[in-house]
Amino acid sequence: MNKWYGDFQVLSDIHLEIKAGEVVVILGPSGSGKSTLLRCINQLETISDGELIVDGYNVQDKKTDINRLRQEIGMVFQHFHLYPHKTVLENITLAPRKVRKMPKEEAERIARQYLAKVGIPEKADSYPAQLSGGQQQRVAIARGLAMKPKIMLFDEPTSALDPEMIGEVLDVMRTLANEGMTMVVVTHEMGFAREVADRIIFMDGGRILEDATPDQFFNHPKEERTQVFLSKIL
Ligand code: ADP
Ligand code: MG
Repeated sequence: MNKWYGDFQVLSDIHLEIKAGEVVVILGPSGSGKSTLLRCINQLETISDGELIVDGYNVQDKKTDINRLRQEIGMVFQHFHLYPHKTVLENITLAPRKVRKMPKEEAERIARQYLAKVGIPEKADSYPAQLSGGQQQRVAIARGLAMKPKIMLFDEPTSALDPEMIGEVLDVMRTLANEGMTMVVVTHEMGFAREVADRIIFMDGGRILEDATPDQFFNHPKEERTQVFLSKIL
């Protein structure tokens, strides 16, 4: 598939298939189209041509219920996007109650379950501003999980965090990966990419230059551009 913004081609000849249970890490320099690719998968952006199939549904097909499909996709952003005037519990229960029409008690029970999973069960009644960045991002992950998505997309989830908080968020993501969640993760955390990814996608200039296992990618990159990228960050 391809995507243009006006006459600027942001994504070129993207061929990518993600299997259920796979953990795909997307690497690449700033401006290479990583966020745009995630946003296309989540239908926050539309593709210009080609085909995009999510959970078996072609998103361009007029019969596809895009809103329904988007409920199956959880997304975690660099800047947590929590509602500041709602408590942690309210932030997590909002979509399950409004979109899934879940009764309040059940939504809260599930929210507490996911808060425990991300390691902050005691923060249910706190407001986002009372939490550290790492805790806020863990709430954002719990909020995504509470919709019971089939796939979780992460766009640089640790890039806005102080260094000492990065580990706690990566630990939660590692646990999810080990439990079999299908994940697409844009990150600059090379240790995480190496350890947790089933596959590394390297993008530059809107193209996928490498689609490889972590071992292939880090130890035997095909493209010179990849070697330059790796030499700068490792
Ligand atoms: P990355 O996440 O890899 O840094 P992005 O997907 O955010 O890259 O952006 C890829 C390119 O598309 C960049 O050159 C960016 O300036 C451009 N771009 C992103 N969003 C828009 C938009 N809404 N309109 C026009 N250009 C955009
Ligand atoms: Mg980006």
